[in-house]
Amino acid sequence: MLDLLRRIVQEVNAASDLDQALNVIVRRVKQVMEVDVCSVYLMDHEARQLVLMATEGLNNEAVRQVRLNVEEGLVGLVAERAELVNLGEAPAHPRYRYFPATGEERYHAFLGVPIIHHRTVMGVLVVQQHSDTPYDTNAVNFLVTIASQLAGAIAHADAVGGIDGLREQRHDLRKPLQGLPGAPGVAIGTAVVVHPHASVEAVPDRQCQDPVAEEARFLAAVGEVRTELREMINRMSELLPAGDLALFEAYLMMLDGDNLVSATVSGIQAGSWAPAALRDTVLEHVRIFQSMDDPYLRERAEDIRDLGRRILQRLQEGTQSRTEFPKHTVLVGEEITASMLAEVPPKRLTGVVSVRGSRTSHVAILSRALGVPAVMGAEDLPVGRLDGREVIADGYSGRVYIEPTADIRKEFVRLQKEEAALSAELKALKNRPAETPDGRRIPLYANTGLVADIQPSLNSGAEGVGLYRTEFPFMVRDSFPGEEEQRQVYRQVLEKFHPRPVTMRTLDIGGDKALPYFPIKEDNPFLGWRGIRITLDHPEIFLLQIRAMLKSSTGLDNLSLLLPMVSRTTEVDEALELVHRAFAELREEGVAIKMPRMGVMVEVPSAVYQAAALARRVDFLSIGTNDLTQYLLAVDRNNPHVAEIFDPLHPAVIRAISDVVTGAHYYSKPVSVCGEMAGDPAAAILMIGLGMDALSMSASSLPRIKWVIRTFSFDRARGLLHEVLDMEDPHEIRAHLNAALEHAGLGGLVRAGK
Ligand code: PEP
Ligand code: MG
Repeated sequence: MLDLLRRIVQEVNAASDLDQALNVIVRRVKQVMEVDVCSVYLMDHEARQLVLMATEGLNNEAVRQVRLNVEEGLVGLVAERAELVNLGEAPAHPRYRYFPATGEERYHAFLGVPIIHHRTVMGVLVVQQHSDTPYDTNAVNFLVTIASQLAGAIAHADAVGGIDGLREQRHDLRKPLQGLPGAPGVAIGTAVVVHPHASVEAVPDRQCQDPVAEEARFLAAVGEVRTELREMINRMSELLPAGDLALFEAYLMMLDGDNLVSATVSGIQAGSWAPAALRDTVLEHVRIFQSMDDPYLRERAEDIRDLGRRILQRLQEGTQSRTEFPKHTVLVGEEITASMLAEVPPKRLTGVVSVRGSRTSHVAILSRALGVPAVMGAEDLPVGRLDGREVIADGYSGRVYIEPTADIRKEFVRLQKEEAALSAELKALKNRPAETPDGRRIPLYANTGLVADIQPSLNSGAEGVGLYRTEFPFMVRDSFPGEEEQRQVYRQVLEKFHPRPVTMRTLDIGGDKALPYFPIKEDNPFLGWRGIRITLDHPEIFLLQIRAMLKSSTGLDNLSLLLPMVSRTTEVDEALELVHRAFAELREEGVAIKMPRMGVMVEVPSAVYQAAALARRVDFLSIGTNDLTQYLLAVDRNNPHVAEIFDPLHPAVIRAISDVVTGAHYYSKPVSVCGEMAGDPAAAILMIGLGMDALSMSASSLPRIKWVIRTFSFDRARGLLHEVLDMEDPHEIRAHLNAALEHAGLGGLVRAGK
């Protein structure tokens, strides 16, 4: 059963459009369950109707013709209740409704299960039978399982233009795709699809201008792969028995038996660029092989895919780095990486849309640092069909509009103008202090990590750097940077901000932050070897970094150090010992430095409970609310499936932060917040009320937060904090704080929240 299920889901995922996907479903389900009829109805949400979209067993002419209201018929009942219906004698049921066009009068038994994606009923999967006995448990279980597995694939295919295409008259009312807010702002521009090297599925559609040259380019790539395979066979023949060479020989045969090549060439001649023509051919072959019953032949699907990848890699070698980007480029991809962002000239980068990731992924953080609106976790995005199309990415709501109508476009242009006006107003605050109306100073610092965000941070009026993430300089190299190399990078930051303070965090890799040259393979990376755990296990890496940081501060003395992922006091003791050692060594070497201020990040629950003990050991605490929220709520910060419940305004998080403030202040040590929460206007009110000593955030959020601080007195914020502490639901808390922002005349900031 599992094997069958896997194969059907694979076939559906490989389908190129909604119709094809649905036809695969009805054909395969009818065959596997040995039923007389299998049909899929999809929901037209706007009309609140179910439309027969594909069938095996009913009259084919009824497809797309039969529509029933949700209140009608057994299919409607399944959708209405979002529950399965299993009947032996369906016509006897009061909700039974007969559609002559379908020819279904012959069938008695009826089993319908809802297809649900993200809590929304997408449609109903139905099987029917001549006999009049209800379906047995096995059949019911199978259909429920298959419907739950297919919901995502159907939602994906629907986004390509499936069910909306049914409503000609309402065609232009395309519903937006829902992703997650990644970085604030609205981007209107041209989609440029970027894809990782040689991922066949992720290749975008693109037209080619010169099919003759494109064909030659493709054939040359095939030739190179052929040569590569021959060389491989030669090399391997010394190491492998002849039988094991068969795999490579089979590859060669696939290339020589010209199906794969000629079908791709036809695609190119029809106007497609070679990678997309190759993609279509490869996926078509994969589909055919995957649907075969013989397990040996099914395995060949993977070989074809691999072969496709090889050819694609050869093709991409010449085209991967695109030099021309449209004036307003919206970068779109399955997983946008920092290096992909870096390829676009900053002036042309208007927005980012990524299928994977969430608000706290590093790409989102990077986008915010650059002031570029971003939508993350747009799971149903039809990436392959977007290149060159106009898109709107709403970084506030996480929505993406593909080829928006004139009305929608107009609305977003208006919003952009409003934004610009708000920014102008905020700019005026640049040189004003971040001080509440009743005289409390709450310094605002910037989070940085790239050389590129030093200037925006200075421009935003930041009073220093509250979190310098040292991972970035490590990530963009192909081996650990040496002491002098690191010193120069750090020196630049310290100098640029001098005399303002800069807090540098020691290397925080592990979790989702991998270094290409230091791979870590773990089942639970966020609970594994991360942050200080790695650096304490590798004192040579830690000491080198500390030495570089200390040296870089010579004559500037504006350096503080911050230890990430601390979960026990001994980690702080050990780290302090190493820092003191490095300090003593450098002094011995004659380097004139002062001991930096030392801080600990509070980002795991154990550190919350030991906040006072940690504070006693160091000069300050800094709360990393991204990780603290993740660990406290047990919600992966990068998983779009649970991003809805990743909410720093959860009462548990607010209480934890409050306890940390109490712990730090018990030893009269200052405490700040440096997670993304610090840049959320609603949360900022609570931070004022909690008596937070400083906040650190992306430069793009800073002016808004200053506005909040200059508007809400400590007393008012404290009052709101107490009201909120009585609430149990994060949504209620957000609504309450948003109302307070509106009431204070800061309604324009409400959209900037989560
Ligand atoms: C945090 O966890 O809140 C934090 C600031 O660190 P990072 O996002 O780099 O893990
Ligand atoms: Mg963290």
